[in-house]
Amino acid sequence: MIIRDRYAPSPTGLQHIGGIRTALFNYLFAKSLKANGDGKFILRLEDTDRTRFDESYVQNLYDTFDWLGIKWDEGPDIGGVSAPYIQSERTAHYKKYAQELLDKGQAYYCFCSSERIDEVRKQREAAHSSESGYDRLCRSIDQGEAAKRAANGEACTVRLKIPLGETTVFKDHLLGDIEWKNDDVNPDPVLLKSDGFPTYHLANVVDDHLMEITHVLRAQEWLASTPLHVIMYRAFGWTPPEFCHLPMVMGQDGKKLSKRHGATSIDEFRKAGYLPAALINYVALLGASYEEGKEIYTLDELAERFSLEKLNKAPAVFDYKKLEWYNGQYIRMMSDEELARLCMPYAIEAGMFEGEVHTETQRRGGSEEQRKIFTTAMALVKERLIFLNEVPEKVAYLFKEPEVLAAEEFIPKKCDLAKTIELLQIGLELVRTMAQAANDEDAENFIKTQAEERDVKLGDLMMPLRVAITGSRVSPPLFGSLRILGADKSEERVKKALEKLKG
Ligand code: GLU
Repeated sequence: MIIRDRYAPSPTGLQHIGGIRTALFNYLFAKSLKANGDGKFILRLEDTDRTRFDESYVQNLYDTFDWLGIKWDEGPDIGGVSAPYIQSERTAHYKKYAQELLDKGQAYYCFCSSERIDEVRKQREAAHSSESGYDRLCRSIDQGEAAKRAANGEACTVRLKIPLGETTVFKDHLLGDIEWKNDDVNPDPVLLKSDGFPTYHLANVVDDHLMEITHVLRAQEWLASTPLHVIMYRAFGWTPPEFCHLPMVMGQDGKKLSKRHGATSIDEFRKAGYLPAALINYVALLGASYEEGKEIYTLDELAERFSLEKLNKAPAVFDYKKLEWYNGQYIRMMSDEELARLCMPYAIEAGMFEGEVHTETQRRGGSEEQRKIFTTAMALVKERLIFLNEVPEKVAYLFKEPEVLAAEEFIPKKCDLAKTIELLQIGLELVRTMAQAANDEDAENFIKTQAEERDVKLGDLMMPLRVAITGSRVSPPLFGSLRILGADKSEERVKKALEKLKG
């Protein structure tokens, strides 16, 4: 079967985890074995609500797809590339199909003003009536008359005529058969607004039909609109697509994932130094189980395994710690060069090369020498790194001499200042050889032997040396740092620290 599905966001907010999960599931389904790998994934902007439209959210959508590296398969050709479908550019279609429903007697013109509709609502409230929505007043107007009034320019909307007294039934892949009494569906909703723009319902159904969408995978919050959509498919005489409403994404407290839980917009995750591959891997597992015991998947591996049967009915719980774990895993799978390339923007933004190089060089990520150091430094930090944006702070001491810390910071446990000075003095004697060692092992063997010969504890010898070199008690590995800094700089830092300790 050739699957055609779509992600159809309304640009009324930033792209967030829930949306991206919907996009990803649609993408994976279109590329899955079930789709013969030949399915089509469509991106469609549902931007017909002009009051909530914001251009920056459209940009955010493109940036998100770009960053995640997810590509849609078709759309209007704009000079050799496919743009997404944009509903505000397709209004002629919707008008045509609204007319078709009018002609079939499945829709009608409504001339009620928003004031009247408000008035009805207030009266009902006052009467404690349980009725809600439109009171169907214009349903009884003679439609020949109504068409004339509309043609004369009288402000009007077009409403769907919901067949009353019937039941609408459809099947949801996860939720099974769903029945809805038509009398309980939003009464005769507007399809075409007075500004000529379609509502979400009309544009959504018309486009899913025209784009030959076979499966609608969308968030469960849209479930309540589905009976209405099914009624519209029937009114047109079209076959509805298959539906699969995806369970909510929740925080650990069982409430819908929101800002209260932490970052939710993809932009925030990007800025915080998450890798797209880690986010994709984790989000693809939110509410789906693929293979026992396997946690790391490439996009292709996910697509190979994806099927609607693997989706869970229960809401998915978003675990920030697990996502961090994924990020760490992906960082460790990366080459130093690749990691350096991804971390460089954070280093530039942190002004890491400031003051040392010409601005233009700084913009490129330092001088050639600095870029080389930056790449080599990745090996030092990679093992324990969780976020890309931690890198500048962690490796800053390799580019700028750190401030010499207060004397007590140098003192190892159970030692005093005099002993610390003595230890650092030994460190000064050893540091050149260590910086010139070919690798960690040689440097380690050397300092171990020296510690034994001089009858001092290895840990005690290393601590003040580490603080002198890196400006911190907790730092990336010392031996590698010494090699990157070189013998002269290393010695210089130890000497400065000694001066400070001697006061
Ligand atoms: N435009 C709707 C949204 O913003 C899409 C619902 C659907 O996928 O049908 O999520």
